[in-house]
Amino acid sequence: MPVKKTTSTAKSAPRSSKRTRKADLAPERIEELLRRLAAAYPNAECALIHRTPWELLVATILSAQCTDARVNMVTPELFRQFPTPRAMAEASPAAIEELIRTTGFYRNKAKSISGAAKRIVSEFGGKVPRTMDELLTVPGAARKTANVVLGVAYQQAEGVVVDTHVLRLSRRLGLTQETTPQKVEQDLMKIIPRDRWIAFSHELIHHGRQVCIARKPKCAECPLENICYSGDKTWTSI
Ligand code: SF4
Repeated sequence: MPVKKTTSTAKSAPRSSKRTRKADLAPERIEELLRRLAAAYPNAECALIHRTPWELLVATILSAQCTDARVNMVTPELFRQFPTPRAMAEASPAAIEELIRTTGFYRNKAKSISGAAKRIVSEFGGKVPRTMDELLTVPGAARKTANVVLGVAYQQAEGVVVDTHVLRLSRRLGLTQETTPQKVEQDLMKIIPRDRWIAFSHELIHHGRQVCIARKPKCAECPLENICYSGDKTWTSI
C-alpha cells in the first residue's frame, strides 16, 4: 500500500474534513482502539512507586509539573523520615520542603502534603478516604489526584485520570474536542466502558510517553496509526 510521509517541520494539518465526530466515536472504532492499546501495553500501571494509599497520594501531589522518575527519587527518604500521615502532620513545613525541593514548586507541594496529612489524621482517622467526595476535601487532592488514588490504590473507577498525555492523545484520537481536563474526562466517561477507565488511562499515558509524544509523534511505529486521523501525524498510511 502506498504511504504518504508528511514532513516533520510542516505545520499540523487540520483534521480531515471527511471524518465526522460521529465516525470518530463509532463503537467499533472505540472498541478497536481499546483492543490495540491493551495489546500494546498489557502491563501498563502507575509508575509512581508506593506501598500504601497515603504514599500514592503524596507521590501524586509531588508529580505535578515533575517527572515520575524524579518523584521516585525523593519519596524513599521522605517516607523514611515521615512514614505515616500522623508523622507527616507533625513535620515542619521546612523539613518537608527540604526533602522535596528537587520536584519543583516545593513550597506549595509541602503545604499541600502537610495539609493533607493533617486533614487525614483529624477527619479520617489517619486513613486516606475511599470516596471522591471525601478525597476532594483533602488539600492537594483535585480530581485527577483523587482519580489516581481511587483507581490505583483502591481499584475503584470513579472517573478517568486526565493528565497531560491523556488530554493530548484523547484530542489527537478524536475522542474529545474539549481542552480542559474536567471536560475531557466527562467526554471519556461517556465513551469508554467503565471497566476500562483505570487501564485506559495507564495505557494512554504509556503511549504518550513512548510513541505519541507531544512534539514529534512516532506515527510510523504506532499501533493505532491506521485508525488515527490526527492532523499532528508525522507519517500516514491512509
Ligand atoms: S498515529 Fe501518530 S498521532 Fe496518531 S496516535 Fe499514533 S503516534 Fe499519535
